[in-house]
Amino acid sequence: MNDCIFCKIINGDIPSKKVYEDELCFAFYDIAPLAPTHFLVVPKQHIASAAEITEENASLVGHIYTVIAKLAAELGFAEGFRVVTNCGADAGQTVHHLHFHVLAGRTLGSFN
Ligand code: 5GP
Ligand code: ZN
Repeated sequence: MNDCIFCKIINGDIPSKKVYEDELCFAFYDIAPLAPTHFLVVPKQHIASAAEITEENASLVGHIYTVIAKLAAELGFAEGFRVVTNCGADAGQTVHHLHFHVLAGRTLGSFN
């Protein structure tokens, strides 16, 4: 997608602080962190939101969760972290490229 900032980050057209990359996904630290550790994991394929997950692309989501588990172990926060996906305006999604926030390093309160 030409005008998607996360596609531009994946392509290196916008700089980011990379956490991890493989053929299917890219992880980078959030520019406005909400926890001591806060990074985003995105599929390299442009998928607009969690509402666009289908049988055809769902394996990407499973792959991303395996990457998150590996990074949690490697970066030392496997004992406690949160994964968040905002979908749509009501949930506050501001970038329309599917992304998984990974938050760790502080007590994460309950939410509703
Ligand atoms: P959303 O609100 O859509 O769930 O999350 C979008 C996230 O992307 C926000 O936490 C925001 O700080 C982050 N973000 C937006 N633009 C950039 C950017 O150019 N670079 C990085 N690293 N993060 C960004
Ligand atoms: Zn995109």
